[in-house]
Amino acid sequence: MADIFARIQSATDHEVRTVLAGLCADRRVRESAGELFDRLERASKHYAADALYICINCRQAYVEALNAAGGCRYHPGHLVLDPDSDAWVDCYGDEIRDDEDMRRDNPDGFEWSCCGKSGSEPGCTRASHKQGGAKRARTGGAHPQPVPRGQSDGGSAKRARVE
Ligand SMILES: [Zn+2]
Ligand SMILES: [Zn+2]
Repeated sequence: MADIFARIQSATDHEVRTVLAGLCADRRVRESAGELFDRLERASKHYAADALYICINCRQAYVEALNAAGGCRYHPGHLVLDPDSDAWVDCYGDEIRDDEDMRRDNPDGFEWSCCGKSGSEPGCTRASHKQGGAKRARTGGAHPQPVPRGQSDGGSAKRARVE
């Protein structure tokens, strides 16, 4: 089976709409999809709609031509339940739950695995925005730096840094 992002790229409009509508049978996917549609709609007041992408790290809408290194801020880790957090002080036993709804509704009751910060803290890592299926995050913005012949470009893909 081909890579899913490659399949999205080559699918017809009808196929993409059909798959998306099918995915939205799941309530959380439906809410996420609505949120991303809202972001694209808001951003399209300032930028051409067909130049907009959603970053797979921070989920913000962005334009590739303005995608500067460091413009994206996100947590590369995942949320881990912190049962000792003050955020749970009014909750009893089974109200302290590690699930998707709680991570969204009570982020301070969780910690990021990457940096140990509270779930509501802004991202600990900066990079450029990245679209699903992109080989690597673009770091050069509108003026990408050419890599001299014979020189390794292994470092340029590792611009993300942890603060
Ligand atoms: Zn983090
Ligand atoms: Zn981003």
